[in-house]
Amino acid sequence: MEQAPLVFTQISDFLEYLGPDFKALIANTPYLANTDLTPTFPFCCSRHYADLIKQAKNPAALLREVLPTKEEYLDVPGFTDDPVGDIPAGKNECVIQKYEKRALIMTTATCGVRCRFCFRRNYPFQNTPSIDVMVGSWLDTHSDVWEVILSGGDPLTLSPTAFQNLIETISDHSSVTTLRIHSRLPVMRPDLVEKHFEFLRDMPARFDCVLVSHVDHPDELDEESMNIFGQLKYSGWTLLNQSVLLKGVNDSADTLEKLSRKLFEQGVLPYYLHQLDHAKGVAHYEVSDEKAKSLIEEIRTKLPGYQVPKLVREIAGEKSKTPV
Ligand SMILES: *Cc1c(COP(=O)(O)O)cnc(C)c1O
Ligand code: SF4
Repeated sequence: MEQAPLVFTQISDFLEYLGPDFKALIANTPYLANTDLTPTFPFCCSRHYADLIKQAKNPAALLREVLPTKEEYLDVPGFTDDPVGDIPAGKNECVIQKYEKRALIMTTATCGVRCRFCFRRNYPFQNTPSIDVMVGSWLDTHSDVWEVILSGGDPLTLSPTAFQNLIETISDHSSVTTLRIHSRLPVMRPDLVEKHFEFLRDMPARFDCVLVSHVDHPDELDEESMNIFGQLKYSGWTLLNQSVLLKGVNDSADTLEKLSRKLFEQGVLPYYLHQLDHAKGVAHYEVSDEKAKSLIEEIRTKLPGYQVPKLVREIAGEKSKTPV
């Protein structure tokens, strides 16, 4: 292939970029062999992540996060379009508030990837061109809110101008002391994070800044993620990570232990290990609570306490995440 694009939206291009060895791997891996070349929830994966797959010790695990399979059509009771109650918690087109004095902003529908297990895969994203204005006027009337979380989609896919306008607006509200960003881009599109570097490095002068990355497998971490985390850490950011517990991806104590240790080496503390949100089409990723708890108990014996993530589930309507 000539110069490969930064993002693959065609599965055939992605597979061609990976090369013939991966065709055989996919055909011979039970979780991957049932590949769906025309998925309803579209395919999207960055070239960076394809390169991570090529270098991975366990490429099948990373492939399972991004490669559509026909299991997504299984209609399993309890797996729904709004599994975590985002819609009833919506305050306007972009603000979701579930928890006291803290609010989450759906900054954009755009993400650096389409994880096949995405909890918002069926979310009816609104088109909100002037999100900064909408967030600003909501905060004007909610001066009890002290933590604002930027989510989506991925907030770091916003253009530097749109991102900076949003931060300026939030920063005009002195009631907001903590600004938190949820992003998978450090392992998916490091090139896009770099576009924000200068501004991100200056943000701790305005707020207590927290980055919660989304990394599920140790093979997702490389020198580029290390560079991003390093730059943010030394400019004063608190770095945390959340993972989703996924069958066939990271449901072994060995993988979870390696993930925690590698995150820590890169300056990031494991925060949450989420039990799967029951979005329609993701049931084949489910790990039972019994197995999840035994995995946590096992890694607890192998890691320092600060490297053991909290095992939680989000239950619609609850006032916090729920420990499992
Ligand atoms: C998960 C979530 C948060 C953050 O919860 P923490 O337990 O603080 O990580 C905040 N708001 C919404 C709407 C959420 O879904
Ligand atoms: S990074 Fe998060 S929002 Fe984006 S596709 Fe994956 S799970 Fe969904």
